[in-house]
Amino acid sequence: MLNKLSFKAQITWLATGLILLTIVVLTANYFIKTAHYIEQQVQKQMQVAGNVLQQTILQQEQVLSTSASVLAADFGFKQAVATRDQGTIESALLNHGKRINADLIMLTDLDGESVAISTNGRELPEDLTPYVGQLPLRAGYAQILSIENNVYQVIVVPVKAPRIIAYAYIGFMFDKRALEQLKEVSSVDVTLVSDGVIVESSFAASSADMLLANNASTSPFELLLSDDEFFHQREPFANSNEVVAILSAPLNEIHRDFNQLIYATFLGALVVLLIAVGLSGWLSRSITMPLKSLLRLTKEITDGNLQVPEPRQALPREFKALYSGFSTMGHAIENRESKIKYQAERDLLTGLFNRPKFLEELDCYLKENLYVALVNVNVKGFKGLNDTIGVANGDKLLVEIAARLSVFCDKGDVEQPIITSRTSGDDFLLAIPIKNLDHLSVLCSLLRAELERPFWLEEINLLLSFYYGIANSQEDGKDAEKLVRRVTMAASMAVTEQVVMRHYKQGEDEAYLLKLRLIEELKQALEARESPLFLNYQPKLNLQTGEVDKLEALIRWVNKEGEFVNPEMFVGLAEKSGLIVTLTQWVIRRVIMQVAQWNEQGYHFNVSINLSAQDIQATGFVGYLLDTVGEFSVSAKQIILELTERDIADNEALIISRLSHLKSLGFEVSVDDYGIGQSSLAKLKTLPVDELKIDKCFILNLDKCAEDQDIVSSTVELGHKLGLRVVAEGVETEQSLALLKSYKCDYAQGYYLSRPLKPEQLIQWYSDYEKTS
Ligand code: C2E
Ligand code: CA
Ligand code: CA
Repeated sequence: MLNKLSFKAQITWLATGLILLTIVVLTANYFIKTAHYIEQQVQKQMQVAGNVLQQTILQQEQVLSTSASVLAADFGFKQAVATRDQGTIESALLNHGKRINADLIMLTDLDGESVAISTNGRELPEDLTPYVGQLPLRAGYAQILSIENNVYQVIVVPVKAPRIIAYAYIGFMFDKRALEQLKEVSSVDVTLVSDGVIVESSFAASSADMLLANNASTSPFELLLSDDEFFHQREPFANSNEVVAILSAPLNEIHRDFNQLIYATFLGALVVLLIAVGLSGWLSRSITMPLKSLLRLTKEITDGNLQVPEPRQALPREFKALYSGFSTMGHAIENRESKIKYQAERDLLTGLFNRPKFLEELDCYLKENLYVALVNVNVKGFKGLNDTIGVANGDKLLVEIAARLSVFCDKGDVEQPIITSRTSGDDFLLAIPIKNLDHLSVLCSLLRAELERPFWLEEINLLLSFYYGIANSQEDGKDAEKLVRRVTMAASMAVTEQVVMRHYKQGEDEAYLLKLRLIEELKQALEARESPLFLNYQPKLNLQTGEVDKLEALIRWVNKEGEFVNPEMFVGLAEKSGLIVTLTQWVIRRVIMQVAQWNEQGYHFNVSINLSAQDIQATGFVGYLLDTVGEFSVSAKQIILELTERDIADNEALIISRLSHLKSLGFEVSVDDYGIGQSSLAKLKTLPVDELKIDKCFILNLDKCAEDQDIVSSTVELGHKLGLRVVAEGVETEQSLALLKSYKCDYAQGYYLSRPLKPEQLIQWYSDYEKTS
């Protein structure tokens, strides 16, 4: 719950809560204290009232006692009593009573027989003796007497003459007026109750009835909380067993005062609370405001706005320190970020853009619809140069080239900046916003003039040559990736074609992409279980014996589209993409399996396998070959390995040593496509080979071309002199075959005999051939 509240709300709630708690505790405490005080006041009032009541009774007793003594001592009265002079007694009693305002005055003889009664005009029962009889006769002390719902304070005195001859009674009645007088003095209502019945009260009659219904023993403290109008307390009334006084202190005023006090307190508390809420709001704001500004700051930093602004308001010291900490952090991040950005976008050697950044920038230009020319600059023979002058010097040259490109950018008359980058080793890419192709050629001349000046490397003068590939956004595409691919292609074409400047030509890219697709497909074909690759076998005829005892294995591929792919083409692709080693292993295994199968069937052919320069140089090649012939129990002698002159020249020393090794293991080696390469016959002498295959270009028209006839016949002769077997491939006519026979050529291969065939077809063909020959 707390987590859901904002920090500000938490502070406000906390402060308000604390203040509220303080107010409640203080108010409760005040309330209790006040209640106690009031309780004490009420108790005191009751005590005073009680005292007043007792005092009044005492005073009246005094008056009664004095008056009774006077009456008892009156000589005339005594005489009247002694003589039982009724008239005198009555008038004496009456006079006496009137003097002190007594409510009851009476005389009884010793038998308790009442002699005379005066009641101050009040109605009294005829015979009071039964009531009077209740009195303990204690002369000089007043007694409480309850007569027919009236309470009297009565005193008895014996009338002596000189012995006791009668008793005189004098009493006051506690009527409403008397109680009201008491109330006036004590401010407390007085009610007299006898045997649970209200006898007299200073209350109006209805209020007095309610009084009996109430529990008179409730504490004043409880009464404060209730809405009772009075607090009642029982008091003994003189020494009466029967009659008690109930003192009732009024509570309205106290209630009113108390309520006013409580209201005032609550009002005060409310005011304090409001102030507290306001203050705590202000406090929390003044705490959260700096936090908010820090929060804003972190958000800015998160959004990448690392330039931290000055705080908008004055902040407390701790926050100021924190703020400046953030600010420092922002700067640090910014520095690091710009460093990272630089490293991510730049070529660290030259400081030029790298390839991804170049593409990004180029993309912007293309999106702006600028006419952009791309120039790919490549240093001629840089690899060799690097080997000669050392990598450090090579790097210096690259840095110098980058510097010259920058000079060119400054000099070039262009409307938008030229984008320069180093995309790989010695490859530089420029994106030049041009007006038209003439403008481009002017800029190209400027570029060449800048780059093709001599370079100085520690006082050595170096003249570098460059290849330039060129493409432009109007003819060659508006896609950055594509444009870069095309200009790179143009540059590599320039290298292959040995021209300085080469523009991209329409369609080259598509052919390139097709090649890429084919390479991918070939890779899958080599891995597939049901391979779309297969082998054809073309027979070689032994011209001396007329037997077909050798074959050449030639690979075939029907691609996904069901098209037959030219083997020369995909073999070339495999060579360029590094797939050739796998492909050759595939061929070797298939051929050896086939030879093993034929051997089993009783057909014993020696089969040629075509190799590439990479195959023979690959480590593990000889091992693979040996393992495979071993696995299928095929003799090494049945396998002939064909290599072209060019393949041998690739890494002559290594290849010659490998070939010698292979020969020593029993494999035969054949020089394929002989005659079109540069190697001389003298070279052949040093090669560890068994066979010479004259290239088909000399054979195809042998029957018609005298020149070819000379070349072929002399080649056969020389080959024989070097101890080699000579094979002619591309024999298409009977006449050519006859000529070759006449030259003593050893073997003939060509369409005249048979096209390359699938294994089953070849066996069929072979059987037919055997039959006819
Ligand atoms: P190659 O090694 O010179 O193979 C001989 C080529 O001449 C074969 O073409 C064959 O079909 C063709 N040929 C044979 N007799 C005649 C004829 O009388 N007239 C004409 N016009 N052509 C004839 P193919 O099969 O198209 O192979 C082309 C090239 O592909 C091969 O030239 C070889 O360099 C390469 N190649 C084929 N199979 C393999 C292989 O398994 N491995 C490697 N590395 N290269 C292979
Ligand atoms: Ca061949
Ligand atoms: Ca050939």
